[in-house]
Amino acid sequence: MKFDDYLFQIGLREKQKIIVHSSFKRISAAFAISPDEVINSLKDIVTSNGSIIFPTFTYCFKKSAGDYEIFDPENSKSKVGLLSETFRLSEGVIRTSSPTHSFALWGKIKNDIDETNSPESPLGRESVLDWLTHQQNSFVLMLGTDFSSLSYGHYLEVISKVPWFDFSPWDYLNVLPIGVSINGEQKLKEIPGCAKGFVNFEKYLLDKKFIKKHGYKSLSSYFIKIQLLFDEGIKYFQTHYDKLLCPIGSCQACDSRRRKFL
Ligand SMILES: [Zn+2]
Repeated sequence: MKFDDYLFQIGLREKQKIIVHSSFKRISAAFAISPDEVINSLKDIVTSNGSIIFPTFTYCFKKSAGDYEIFDPENSKSKVGLLSETFRLSEGVIRTSSPTHSFALWGKIKNDIDETNSPESPLGRESVLDWLTHQQNSFVLMLGTDFSSLSYGHYLEVISKVPWFDFSPWDYLNVLPIGVSINGEQKLKEIPGCAKGFVNFEKYLLDKKFIKKHGYKSLSSYFIKIQLLFDEGIKYFQTHYDKLLCPIGSCQACDSRRRKFL
């Protein structure tokens, strides 16, 4: 099978609005393809009448002790995977200016969101994820990744107001709620925490048959409507938020939330 055919088979079409989480390692284990070819395939199918979004997070927080990096929108490399960096540098792509959680954008979305986008709640209201929520025909495409990379989970935490939605669990890393870029400092609220527990939400959706895995060789992917993630997510996050934390003693960030809120 060709990679384009795989994308079509799992549901990708012209004019859709998609956010992509990906593991190039997993993709290239199933398809003989380069990073540039992956990005071109996505653009060819969705076309510029649709929208493609990749997270290009850099986590440039100010710290109370020790060194910290300063975000440079043009030169700071994405820390969330090779394909996100390849996409960021590809033709027609702009990058938002959040020092901690920037996104790379291509297609129609650029009419609504420009380079200056940097909400004080980086993955909450007025973020790219908020935009996706209010669009028809919007999807999360996960190529070879599980829900521990589902940025949308952080949006659900904020909107569902899980008990720790505005509590930063990164004190132990000396992280302050301030983003730092070459354009200055930005005070932040609703700092995204640990995402590993989102895999329990994934299991729940699989068990209930709300989502399904699309396997090909060793690659397994999801193509999920944002509307479904939102509707089921709000319910799950409001009632099962305790399941969103890592097991006791395995994660300092989640332990600090558990101590304070559970
Ligand atoms: Zn954790």
